[in-house]
Amino acid sequence: MQSAAPPPRGAPLTASTATLKPTIDPRDFRVKPGSSVDLAKLKTKQSGDFASSEDSHAELHYHRDRIITLQERLWAEHKQSLLVILQATDTGGKDGTIRHVFDGVNPQGVVVTSFKQPTPEELDHDYLWRIHQHTPAKGEIAIFNRSQYEDVLVVRVHDLVPKQVWQKRYEQINDFEERLTETGTTIVKIFLHISKDEQKERLQARLDDPDKRWKFNPGDLADRDRWDDFQKAYRDMLERCSTEFAPWYIIPADRKWYRNVVIAAIVADTLEKMDPQFPKEAEGLDEIVIPD
Ligand code: AMP
Ligand code: MG
Repeated sequence: MQSAAPPPRGAPLTASTATLKPTIDPRDFRVKPGSSVDLAKLKTKQSGDFASSEDSHAELHYHRDRIITLQERLWAEHKQSLLVILQATDTGGKDGTIRHVFDGVNPQGVVVTSFKQPTPEELDHDYLWRIHQHTPAKGEIAIFNRSQYEDVLVVRVHDLVPKQVWQKRYEQINDFEERLTETGTTIVKIFLHISKDEQKERLQARLDDPDKRWKFNPGDLADRDRWDDFQKAYRDMLERCSTEFAPWYIIPADRKWYRNVVIAAIVADTLEKMDPQFPKEAEGLDEIVIPD
């Protein structure tokens, strides 16, 4: 468990971060389309080039600053949008990621949606119906805390629909995402990879801390019991749905500070590639005198 606090909310670039050379290369975490994934071989506890949590703060600060600046342009430009999808097992760190990576971003223009068990109305529609309602509008960043991928994860592991039904969904989801990207939405998908031991510690921490007990859902133990089946379902999701237009990234997430800085780098780089521009200013602004 890490204790050191991350940099303060939306603080401006400091002299040290202005000259910082980032160490993280998002390509190292990206799942190449068509490649195979062996989650058991991918380490969950990593530190990259950082000696400690404190050592990573300047770079986290640097990437967050880029996100804040680029989001302002994206919002002003009002032409394209970004969808960030977060998937992980319970206690995987989805909430913490949202809190730390998007800290300081103007809440106007950022929308977080958490997908829970579908309501009866949602179940009466196709599984993408509720998802499509929350995809980002022009200028927005939408963050999905869980997503359409639950329909090939929990639904598959707990046999909520027959195999013939969930099997078709990988292609359906790829088609859906391709259509979104063709109409102006950039998609980044983040899988938080934690170990079974780390989950045990985090679940125990929820039980031990009165302020965290509300997060403990005894039903999470039923999912933990099916750990290996979930790992297989994650593998298939990562292998079958990492595409050129909507790539998956696998993040070693046992160390929360490392997870945060890697995801901040991925989001910042993605926004930079989108290259949002402020709209053209009105003509003749230099001649304008504001009357008393
Ligand atoms: P949490 O994110 O911890 O608040 O829990 C939300 C719960 O809703 C998780 O157990 C998810 O697996 C579950 N959930 C989300 N989407 C679906 C879905 N499409 N079908 C069934 N369960 C779902
Ligand atoms: Mg939960």
